[in-house]
Amino acid sequence: MRLLLLGGTSEARELASLLVEAGVDVTSSLAGRVARPRLPVGKVRIGGFGGVAGLRAALVDYDAVVDATHPFALGMSANAVAARDGLPLLRLQRPGWEPDPAWHYVDTHEEAAERAAALGARPFVTVGRQELSRLVPALGDHAVLARVVDVPEPAPPAAWRVVTSRGPYTLDGERALMTGHRADVLITKDSGGTYTWPKMAAARELGVPVVVVRRPPDPTGVPTVHDVETAFAWVIALERGHDRGRAGSVHGTRPDDTGGQAPT
Ligand code: NAP
Repeated sequence: MRLLLLGGTSEARELASLLVEAGVDVTSSLAGRVARPRLPVGKVRIGGFGGVAGLRAALVDYDAVVDATHPFALGMSANAVAARDGLPLLRLQRPGWEPDPAWHYVDTHEEAAERAAALGARPFVTVGRQELSRLVPALGDHAVLARVVDVPEPAPPAAWRVVTSRGPYTLDGERALMTGHRADVLITKDSGGTYTWPKMAAARELGVPVVVVRRPPDPTGVPTVHDVETAFAWVIALERGHDRGRAGSVHGTRPDDTGGQAPT
C-alpha cells in the first residue's frame, strides 16, 4: 500500500518515522515554504501539486492519504478533500490549546491586530511569516517584535523588529525574549502542541495579555484523529485490509475508508 502523508508538522514527521519503521511505503509531502525544512525520514517530495487537479493526478500513485498538515493550512486540507476521489483519507490534527479564560480569542489575524493595538504598544507576534502583512494596518506603527522561521517578504514596517528562529522553545528563552522586548501583548494562533507552548506560559507568568486567533473549521466529511498513535493504527489496519484485498482478488480491491477503525 502506498501512502501519501501531507506534512509540514512535527506530528507528520513522527508518523513518518513510525511508518518507515513498520515497513509502510510512505511518501511525505512538504510545501517547500521554508528554506531549510526539517525533513522526515523516508521518501520526501517537496513543492505544491498544482491545485486540486494536480493533486488528483498525483494521487493515482497512492492508495491512501493522511493529511497531517498544520491546523491553519486550510488550502491543502481542502484540496485533499476535493481531490481524493474515493481514496481513504484521514486527518491528523493536534488538539488546540486548553482555553484560558484570560485569553482574547479572535477569528482573524486582522481582528487580532486590532485587539492587540487596544491592549498594548509593544506586541510580540508569532503568527508566521505569511500572515504578517495582515497585521500591518493596525500595528504598522507599533514596536512589534515578530518571530518567524525565514525572513519575511516584503520587508515589514520600519518600526518592527524581526527575529528568525524555529521551535521548540523553552520557558527561560521565551521569558528572556519577551522581557528584553518589554512585550506588553502577545499575538499567536491556536497552533496547539508543545513546541510553541512556552511563550504562553511566559506570558501568563509575566502578566502579558494574549490574543489568540481561533482555528478554522476542520475539513468536512473526513475522519479526524488527534494523535500520532491513532493515525498509525489507522494506516496499519488499512494496509492489512489492502493486503487481504489483494490476496483475495486477481484485480485487487480498494480498502475501505476507515481501515476498520472508527476515528472521531
Ligand atoms: P496552505 O495555505 O494550506 O496551502 C497552500 C498551498 O501550498 C497548497 O494549495 C499546496 O499547493 C501547497 N501545500 C501546502 N501544504 C503542502 C504539503 N504538505 N505538500 C505539498 N504542497 C503543500 O498551506 P500553508 O498554510 O501555506 O502551509 C504550508 C505548509 O506549512 C503546510 O504543509 C503546513 O503543514 C506547514 N505549516 C503551516 C503553518 C501555518 O501556520 N499555516 C505552520 C506550520 C507549518 P498546491 O495547490 O500547488 O498543491
